[in-house]
Amino acid sequence: MQGLQSAKKRRSARRSRKTNGAVRRGPVTTEPVQPPPPLRASVLVLNRLYLAIHVVTVRRAFGLLFRELAEVVHLEEGAFANYSFQSWREISELRADEKRPHDDWIRAVNFEIQIPRVIRLLIYDRVPKQRFHLNRRGVLARDGHCCQYCGGRFPAHQLSLDHVIPRSLGGPTTWENVVCACMKCNTKKGGRTPKEARMTLVGRPYKPKRNPILLQKLDNPKYQSWRTWLDGAALPVM
Ligand SMILES: [Zn+2]
Repeated sequence: MQGLQSAKKRRSARRSRKTNGAVRRGPVTTEPVQPPPPLRASVLVLNRLYLAIHVVTVRRAFGLLFRELAEVVHLEEGAFANYSFQSWREISELRADEKRPHDDWIRAVNFEIQIPRVIRLLIYDRVPKQRFHLNRRGVLARDGHCCQYCGGRFPAHQLSLDHVIPRSLGGPTTWENVVCACMKCNTKKGGRTPKEARMTLVGRPYKPKRNPILLQKLDNPKYQSWRTWLDGAALPVM
């Protein structure tokens, strides 16, 4: 009986240690853990016929390469070369000593591999319907992070979306009626039309013909090789 009681005490002590441990660790954070910068890069996906169809994360791209559903398409001295996952790994090892500034690399347990910018699906040859929905990132990219009332440029967290014709007056949530606005202008405008608030739009909001987030990426030297597939082509889904 005594043995049973002391076992109970031990269990209870373990429980309380666990509880204390949890308290010491602090509250559980719900913020998503950000991957390291190279893994935050984007990879352009071509279909079998070399048409740009999609943009995926590095993780997804390596998943497709590893399962031999895709190959790397790499720009080298003005021409494109194709690599399987294995040959890309080998060529990466050879290049590891001469990394260029805009290249991204990740380190696996016992090797380093360059992050490809473009991959090509080996079987899929369709072109999915082009569509990019209205969303916050898209509006900010289309408006170049500039408040459409004062023209000032702001970081994303200081910008909000504004319905030019307020929703309360029947204004739709469309590319043609939504702009980004700084907090100050948004507060000043309130639930009024620009005319009522005596404010003027910097430009007329429009539905972009090409995916504004992708267009923004094309300005980044990392994604220069994408131009070959995106210039003049209908822009893919994002
Ligand atoms: Zn403003």
